[in-house]
Amino acid sequence: MATRRRTLLKIVLLGDSGVGKTSLMNQYINNKFSQLYKTTIGADFLTKEIVIDDRIVTLQIWDTAGQERFQSLGVAFYRGADCCVLVYDVNVNKSFDSLDNWHDDFLKQASPSDPDNFPFILLGNKIDVDSGNSRVISDKKAKEWCQSKDDISYFETSAKEDINIDAAFLFIAKRALTHE
Ligand code: GDP
Ligand code: MG
Repeated sequence: MATRRRTLLKIVLLGDSGVGKTSLMNQYINNKFSQLYKTTIGADFLTKEIVIDDRIVTLQIWDTAGQERFQSLGVAFYRGADCCVLVYDVNVNKSFDSLDNWHDDFLKQASPSDPDNFPFILLGNKIDVDSGNSRVISDKKAKEWCQSKDDISYFETSAKEDINIDAAFLFIAKRALTHE
């Protein structure tokens, strides 16, 4: 049997408190969703192995433990990140307005060598709420923001209904591999 190459990718989740970062990670890794508001999973990161083009890729997904309220995540959180997943809630204007800050903060703290080409992705989460009637940020507005940031890719997700999460993480992992 051919030896497969192993790769580790560090992915950090960023966005306002309450947008669903922990829920997205929990749904992606454990196939679970909880309405109960939990600010932390009690670990710095969780891992998941996926196979991409015959390569075993370990995704190491870093979630915040509630410190995002104070925008003080510390260097260890950002250090060596291969990808950054920005998350907002399509029903909350403020969470969309905060994206500039999170994006800038990441570039400042992680200081990647080629900031214009770094693998970012944007997730518009909670599209299930009220069957989309409570939505305040349109798909168009989100995509315009993405274009203004060197063409970040955009996915609309629901951690509750498990919509688009696998696709989004697979996409960002592939982007990071071609970016190496
Ligand atoms: P975090 O602070 O960004 O980690 O957000 P959480 O994952 O803790 O989620 C905050 C709240 O939103 C919790 O009550 C979740 O159950 C809820 N939530 C998260 N994602 C979704 C979603 O896609 N749809 C709905 N309806 N609720 C969600
Ligand atoms: Mg959380």
